[in-house]
Amino acid sequence: MITLAAEKCIGCVKCVKACPFGVIVMKGKKAVIGDGCTLCGACEQICPVSAITIERAMKDIDLTQYSGVWVVAETEGSQRVKNFTFELLGKGRELTDILGQSVSCILLGNDVAKFADTLIHHGADSVFIGESEALSRYRAEAFAPVITGLISRYKPCIVLFGATHAGRDLAPRVAASLELGLTADCTGLSILDGLLLQTRPAFGGNIMADIICPYTRPQMATVRPNVMKKMEPDAKRAGEKITVPVKIDASSFRIVLKEILDSPQTGKVKIDEADIIVSGGRGVCTNGGFALLEELAGVLGGVVGCSRVAVDLGCRPKSVQVGQSGTTVSPKLYVAVGISGSIQHQVGMKSSDTIVAINNDPAAPIFQVADFGIIGDYRAIIPALVVEVKKNRGG
Ligand SMILES: Cc1cc2nc3c(=O)[nH]c(=O)nc-3n(C[C@H](O)[C@H](O)[C@H](O)COP(=O)(O)OP(=O)(O)OC[C@H]3O[C@@H](n4cnc5c(N)ncnc54)[C@H](O)[C@@H]3O)c2cc1C
Repeated sequence: MITLAAEKCIGCVKCVKACPFGVIVMKGKKAVIGDGCTLCGACEQICPVSAITIERAMKDIDLTQYSGVWVVAETEGSQRVKNFTFELLGKGRELTDILGQSVSCILLGNDVAKFADTLIHHGADSVFIGESEALSRYRAEAFAPVITGLISRYKPCIVLFGATHAGRDLAPRVAASLELGLTADCTGLSILDGLLLQTRPAFGGNIMADIICPYTRPQMATVRPNVMKKMEPDAKRAGEKITVPVKIDASSFRIVLKEILDSPQTGKVKIDEADIIVSGGRGVCTNGGFALLEELAGVLGGVVGCSRVAVDLGCRPKSVQVGQSGTTVSPKLYVAVGISGSIQHQVGMKSSDTIVAINNDPAAPIFQVADFGIIGDYRAIIPALVVEVKKNRGG
């Protein structure tokens, strides 16, 4: 329930500008909340005199009124949908097939409605489309209230976000506004007795924790990209497209976005979407070893990744670190060079289609997850591999 204490209202108009659904108007010098309030919380957060309060009674709620799995899509501007969105839709389908419910996708951006069919082909039964200039790039102040409002209105049972930079910023804000729990960085999702079983690494990746949220709805999680499998797109799938009337006044934002700088990446393809990754660890850091890896990655058409130690030693940027505290990858080919294969590294690459390990220690744990192992010094092995690959490609 939302309450506006008229005696406290100072007529500053901030709530009118902040409401993404345009339901607050001024009557005389006082703000009035009209019909269609979604309880998104944007006005409550911006009001400087706490005249607006929202009460979300989670006690004794009827959990059966919550239904459906929602996936929050991410796009690269109006260029394309990020790959993990399709992975979450694939997992969403799997979960709803067990629950007997439907999968919906929230698609926010500017000029993004054209992606709705693709999302439906990848498993969505319906797509909520919200378009606005203010949504053209991810900004928490624009995205969070719209999603909070939609969840309050439509009451999904499960909401999934990507564990991306944006998802990790957005999901906790939405969860806090709705006074819900959130399981971050899940690597597994399943259904147990009708509840979402959320699996994630704990205690430095040494154990996997299973987490349930039995008392509140929706159950919310951020999910690591490159862990779930997307479904084969089916161009015959049909679904509903629901236009969300979004009215965002960016002049009310407290944060001004001046410039976006891309983090340094090796190669043009980002590591989380690369098909071929040649990764190096401590064993490669000395003697200019990464130059050899660049060469191999170059002839294979891949990118160079690394272990955390390689980042700590200053050989590579954090943006290409693979593993629990870096990026989870799932390429067609992963070549681990001079990487021992700690559990924290494995958690970020073990779902790769084919893993090749090159290490001079035959007991290195990386060989336990490798499809092919080469025991020896990488300084002799990599140049030989480069020659062979070039030969096979007629180079
Ligand atoms: C909370 C937490 C999060 C973490 N997150 C991550 C993460 O995201 N990613 C990650 O990678 N780690 C992570 N770690 C660190 C992890 O535990 C390991 O310390 C790290 O992965 C080891 O990196 P490495 O394999 O490069 O180095 P090492 O374990 O030192 O292995 C180096 C390997 O190189 C081999 N080698 C040396 N010389 C040669 C040569 N000439 N030819 C061939 N092989 C050679 C050695 O035999 C050895 O196996 C995390 C740790 C914690 C506690």
